Amino acid sequence: METNPQQHLLTLLKTHFGYEKFLPNQEEIIQNLLNKNDTIAIMPTGGGKSLCFQLPALAMEGTAIVLSPLIALMKDQVDALQANGISANFYNSSQPQEIQQQVLQDLQNGNLKLLYVAPESLPQLHFILNTIKISLFAIDEAHCISSWGHDFRPAYTQLKSVREQFPDIPLIALTATADRATREDIATQLAIPNAKTFIASFDRPNLYLDVRPGQNRNKQILDFLKKHSKESGIIYCLSRKSTEKLAATLSSKGYKAEAYHAGLSAEKRSAIQDDFVNDTTPIIVATIAFGMGIDKSNVRWVIHYNMPKNIEGYYQEIGRSGRDRLAANTLLFYSFADVIMLRKFAEDSETKEFQLAKLERMQQFSEALSCRRKVLLGYFGEHLLEDCGNCDICKSPPTYFDGTLIAQKVCSVVARLKEQEALGMVLDVLRGAQNTQVFDKGYQNIKTFGAAKDIAWRDLQQYAIQLLNQGILQIHFHENGRLLLTNLAKKVLFEGKKVRLANIVQETEKLKVEKISHKRADLFEKLKTLRSKLAQAANMPAYIVFSDAALEDMEHKKPQNLEEFAEISGVGKAKLEKYGADFIKVINRHLDGLETKLPSHERSYKMFTEENLSPQKIAKVRGLTVDSVYGHFLKMYELGTDFDIKQFISTEEIQQIKVAKETLENPDALKPYFEYFEEKLPYWKIRLGLYLGS
Ligand code: ADP
Ligand code: ZN
Repeated sequence: METNPQQHLLTLLKTHFGYEKFLPNQEEIIQNLLNKNDTIAIMPTGGGKSLCFQLPALAMEGTAIVLSPLIALMKDQVDALQANGISANFYNSSQPQEIQQQVLQDLQNGNLKLLYVAPESLPQLHFILNTIKISLFAIDEAHCISSWGHDFRPAYTQLKSVREQFPDIPLIALTATADRATREDIATQLAIPNAKTFIASFDRPNLYLDVRPGQNRNKQILDFLKKHSKESGIIYCLSRKSTEKLAATLSSKGYKAEAYHAGLSAEKRSAIQDDFVNDTTPIIVATIAFGMGIDKSNVRWVIHYNMPKNIEGYYQEIGRSGRDRLAANTLLFYSFADVIMLRKFAEDSETKEFQLAKLERMQQFSEALSCRRKVLLGYFGEHLLEDCGNCDICKSPPTYFDGTLIAQKVCSVVARLKEQEALGMVLDVLRGAQNTQVFDKGYQNIKTFGAAKDIAWRDLQQYAIQLLNQGILQIHFHENGRLLLTNLAKKVLFEGKKVRLANIVQETEKLKVEKISHKRADLFEKLKTLRSKLAQAANMPAYIVFSDAALEDMEHKKPQNLEEFAEISGVGKAKLEKYGADFIKVINRHLDGLETKLPSHERSYKMFTEENLSPQKIAKVRGLTVDSVYGHFLKMYELGTDFDIKQFISTEEIQQIKVAKETLENPDALKPYFEYFEEKLPYWKIRLGLYLGS
């Protein structure tokens, strides 16, 4: 039988992975591989890279060899494949010898569709690989081959020989690295100059981008956690000490949080990581070392306690949230003290100029007064046409006022301090602070001492930062961060140049904006509990049983039987058989729970308004006719519930029923209407029309 090849791929996608359609670029990449062409796939985290070689592995004859740098990642992907009923395994130095032998046996017998191998172990497989049928080679995290990249791995350089040794087998290299030099180096290093490169957009529209001044950080975090305590999230700090302090603070407030940093023993770190992956510890307070090699798809938020040193790092770290493409929150605290500290680090580095330039871009992002995502993607060379609508600036755009007077005051203090003092002292003098540093230098005698005492310290600090950004002030970091005036400042002071400043948004106002974050329904929590139970029993991470996206789809569609369950995104053949019955039971029990307590018409009404079930679905769930369900709605309406009953019927239909009423001999029974409309209007609609039309 002829099958359309595109349809064939979609069938494989649904059967094995449970998905209905491809994500951007997946299909083109897969097609290119199936045509036996070398391929380079550049996609952001969560873009669905794995599927680009996993699906062809299933469509092609033989075994796909996947090279992957981290043992944890291999295990995770193999678990996920096996959960989908796909025969896959890995081969690396962490396995006992008997297991290794078993894997090789399976490989030789052609029992594996995919084998994950660490690059270090590839030479050991050389002999066997020459005797078996290989479908394709996939090189995951391919940027590791480039010494330009940030995670260069010497073992990756051996992969150069793959193309030479297996000239006829297609090869795919995958990475999420956005850096151009590294991207280009991959083709050279792997000796695949003719590979077709696919570059997906790096936008991650589901990540909410929020940047706030780093004041009262702990309080802001505690406020944030009130709404997110059940979700997994990571807080990044710069120092080990601060991770421990913050974790302790959170624990003392009753949150389950652990500190994670390079100073802990390897066992301790791995235990913490496992508890996070398995949803046992929701909150990790970590140095940047945490998160590499974690594929957990349901990290729901990332907070930066300190500003990262460049945009690449920031994007990589926030990118660990929302891999399932559901909404995720990211929050960056920005403080001038962090900038100064990071500048010190950068100045001590060998590539000082480079580091400082990157830090400056990070700072520009943090201080941006226009759509953050535009700034962010612009950095990676991508240009959004419209504002994103999902960042703090888009949600509450800054408003401006005439800040000329403030600017004049600030500039005049800088001038009177002879351009010798850093921001902190300038602010102290402006505010008329009574402290020893001020008195020691006799600054209380300066004419403009206390000139801006009516403005709060932190607001004044934000204004000064805006003046820096507008090029009115400049800062000499290498000279203790002293502030200097620019030519523009002279125009402000002496030529009446106007200055526009953005109003400072108070945190309380921001919180109001953020309140829209949705409340999780009861059923979702029940589904999550079942998922944890099943995951524990199978000794694997919860997100491998089902992603949050799959649970959300179940919550939304409320499948009643296996046939309906099969429609859920993420449910393929294997998971349908393994988990379908259990989840359906929980869903039905949840709906039954609504059943028992209330009168019948209220139950139907509640299912419609609160659970978003269609009348057809309600009828099915409750074993009623659709007519009775509409009857229930009508009854609720009659009882005075604020309910838009007119949504079920058009004005013309009401009109037609009115006309019928005047024509019919027996307008008090319903059947004559039914016949009058040639059985095309259901009874419930007739009843509704009569009610509304009278
Ligand atoms: P990456 O490796 O690019 O970060 P993954 O391969 O881990 O991304 O995929 C991210 C998530 O998207 C996973 O949960 C994966 O199952 C899911 N996914 C992949 N392809 C699809 C698809 N076509 N439709 C829906 N979800 C998908
Ligand atoms: Zn935006």
